[in-house]
Amino acid sequence: MEKTLVLIKPDAFGQNHAGDILKIYEDAGFKIVAAKVMQMTESLAAKHYVEHIGRPYYPALVEFMTSAPIMALVLSGDNVIKKVRELNGATNPAEAAEGTVRKLYAADKTHNAVHASDSPESSAREIPIFFSACEMFY
Ligand code: ADP
Ligand code: MG
Repeated sequence: MEKTLVLIKPDAFGQNHAGDILKIYEDAGFKIVAAKVMQMTESLAAKHYVEHIGRPYYPALVEFMTSAPIMALVLSGDNVIKKVRELNGATNPAEAAEGTVRKLYAADKTHNAVHASDSPESSAREIPIFFSACEMFY
């Protein structure tokens, strides 16, 4: 079954929206196969967001992601990568569709509530950054 990495970012996690967001994914039929609350470090952020290093928004992104705990998840299901991206909505919450996680819970382009892998290649690269095989339950 296809898998994706989701991060509930410091804004949404700190505002107690983890349950609301998990409900959106579970109601869509996806299974939680791994989950943990953790603190992102600068080196972890650099690994996860490697393709964004050097972009103008990168320093603010790292400052935000390391500012408070996050919740990391692996979800599984049919077409989960694409569907969770749709459930999350556009990167810029001002452009996110009604009912999406980012429309409901995100404030702006930096504080945008969630991360989800954007392709099978990304998911395969990102999941092992956060979880070992023995932390995943199918
Ligand atoms: P997504 O999270 O939707 O996959 P990207 O991969 O393009 O978006 O960017 C990763 C993260 O970097 C975004 O979720 C957001 O937090 C931040 N980001 C991207 N572009 C901008 C921007 N123009 N201004 C501020 N933050 C940005
Ligand atoms: Mg991305």
